[in-house]
Amino acid sequence: MSIKKELVQYAKHCSSSGLTSGTSGNLSVREGQVMYITPSALPYDQMEEEDILEVDLQSGEVVNGTRKPSSETPMHRFIYRKNSDIKSIVHTHSTYATIFACAHKTIPPVHYMIADIGREIPVASYATYGSEQLANNTVETLKDNKGVLLANHGLVAVGDDLKDAYRRAEVIEEVAQLAYGSYTLDSVNPLTSEDLDDALEGFKTYISG
Ligand code: 13P
Ligand code: ZN
Repeated sequence: MSIKKELVQYAKHCSSSGLTSGTSGNLSVREGQVMYITPSALPYDQMEEEDILEVDLQSGEVVNGTRKPSSETPMHRFIYRKNSDIKSIVHTHSTYATIFACAHKTIPPVHYMIADIGREIPVASYATYGSEQLANNTVETLKDNKGVLLANHGLVAVGDDLKDAYRRAEVIEEVAQLAYGSYTLDSVNPLTSEDLDDALEGFKTYISG
């Protein structure tokens, strides 16, 4: 399947699964020196392959496409430039993850599935959406993690391909729901460091089979 077709398919999944609403969120895939990214402010149900933009990773210029690229183009670009192994990025405002982001609260490891992302989901400092400051804050906090929260905004998940990044956006939302429930029951029981080590080890082979 072409990259553009896959991006549109996953963008529509984000919308139908409830990970995004309205025109919030954006997705991209890196290929060589360019990234393919969703357009800005276009409802997902109207999105077609020809709406996907091709952006040069060095210059940030649109090299193909007629629409306006996502306002978070700097964030996607800075993440790819900093991490050569990352091939795809999904950004959403999914509800429970965003509650933690608004509360400036790290999502704790209450469920072993968090090992698909890291030991916890940290929060990058607030900056205006679409700004280079937000892009820098995101890169700085992401480090080797596969996902990060953006204060008062949402989440970012990364992966080796779009399937990976999308799955991680779902996992972050799922663990956020479980952590929120744990806080509500006033009984938050994070995994121990050793249990996390085991889960992280397991995930090295679990996903790829
Ligand atoms: P775009 O529609 O420009 O991609 O913006 C949505 C968003 O989530 C900004 O952070
Ligand atoms: Zn956003």
